[in-house]
Amino acid sequence: MKNPILGIIGGGQLGSMLSDAAKKINIKTVVYSDVEDSPAQNFCDEFILGKYDDEKKIEEFKIKTDVITYEFENIPFETLKKIESSKKVYPKPEINKIVQNRLLEKNFLKDNNILTTDYIHIKSKDDLEKINEIIPSILKTCTLGYDGKGQYKIEKKEDIDKLNLDPSKDYILEKFINLEKEISVILTRYSKNKYEIYEPFENKHEEQILKFSKIPAKINTEIYNKSKDWSINIAETLDYIGTICIEFFIDNENKLYVNEIAPRVHNSGHMTINTHNISQFENHVRAVCGLNNIETKKYFNGEMINLIGNDITKYRNKKIEKNEFFFDYLKKEIKAKRKMGHFTKVIK
Ligand code: ADP
Ligand code: MG
Repeated sequence: MKNPILGIIGGGQLGSMLSDAAKKINIKTVVYSDVEDSPAQNFCDEFILGKYDDEKKIEEFKIKTDVITYEFENIPFETLKKIESSKKVYPKPEINKIVQNRLLEKNFLKDNNILTTDYIHIKSKDDLEKINEIIPSILKTCTLGYDGKGQYKIEKKEDIDKLNLDPSKDYILEKFINLEKEISVILTRYSKNKYEIYEPFENKHEEQILKFSKIPAKINTEIYNKSKDWSINIAETLDYIGTICIEFFIDNENKLYVNEIAPRVHNSGHMTINTHNISQFENHVRAVCGLNNIETKKYFNGEMINLIGNDITKYRNKKIEKNEFFFDYLKKEIKAKRKMGHFTKVIK
C-alpha cells in the first residue's frame, strides 16, 4: 500500500515537528494555516495559506490529502466536520468539540469518575458575585485560551470588581489548587486497547506557561500508576486515535487531579525526539496514517527547557554539547511570552 499524504491543520512548532517526523518515515505532508509566516513551511512538503472557515481553500487542502490531523484544538468544529464528510480526520471532530471547551471537558471527566478541581459555569459578573465557596480560584474562558491566555486569578472577592467579563463569552471558575507538582502523561492510541504510552513527565510552569519538563518525574508509585490508568481510560472512552496528552495537578496532600486534556502532541513530550526510539510526533503520524505501532522504548532520561521570548537569543550562540539538542522554531519575530524554541538535554 502506498503511504497516505498527511494534512496538518496549524503551522506552528507542533506542525513543524509533526512534518519532520513524517518525513523520516516517508510520509508527505500538506500544512494548512491562517498565518503567513508559519514556521511549519520550513518542514512540510506543501503549505496552504487560508482562513479556517474558507471553504474553497479547505476544499483545495482536502483534495491534496488522504488523512487529516491538527496541531491545536481551536479549529472550528464545522470545518473539521465538513472535512470529515469525505476524508478521515483524527482525532475525530466530536472529541475535539468536547476538549476545546473547558466546561464540556470537565463534565466529561466528572461523568467518568475522574477527579478534577471544583468548578462552576459562569455566564456573567452576577454569577461571579454570588460565589463564596471557591475562592481562591481561577476564572478561565471556556474556549480559545492557551498558555494562560484568558485566565484571571481571583484571590479575594474584591478581585472580581476589577474584572471585565465579555458578555459574548462563557467562563468557568475553577478552584485554585495548592500545587505540589504538575505532571503529564502522553500516549498514542492506535486502536482498541492498542497504544504506546510514555512515562509521566514532571512539569514546571512560569506565569502559566510551561517552562521545564523532565523524566523521570519524582512521584510515588500510586500516582505513577493512577495517572497512567486514568490516561488510558480517557483515551479508550473517547475512542481516540493519535497522540493525546493528559495534564495533571498533584496537590500538597498528594492528591491527583486531571487539569486538562490536549487532543494532540504536547510541549511536555518534545524530549521524546531525543530520549525515545519513537517520538510522540512519529507515534502520532503512524497512528493517524494507519501504520503499525512499534514498541516505544526509552533510551535516556531527559530534561527540556522551553525558550520563551528573548531566551532564544543566547541559545542561538550557545555551544551545543553531544547530549544536548537545540530546536529553533524559526519564528520571524521574537515576542514576550511566545514559545520560540526548546532545548533538550539527555542524561546518559
Ligand atoms: P492552558 O490551556 O493555558 O494550558 P491550564 O488550565 O492548563 O491552561 O493552565 C495553565 C497553568 O496554570 C497550569 O498548568 C497551572 O500551572 C496553572 N493553573 C491553571 N489552573 C489552575 C488551578 N485551578 N489551580 C492551580 N493552578 C492552576
Ligand atoms: Mg494546560
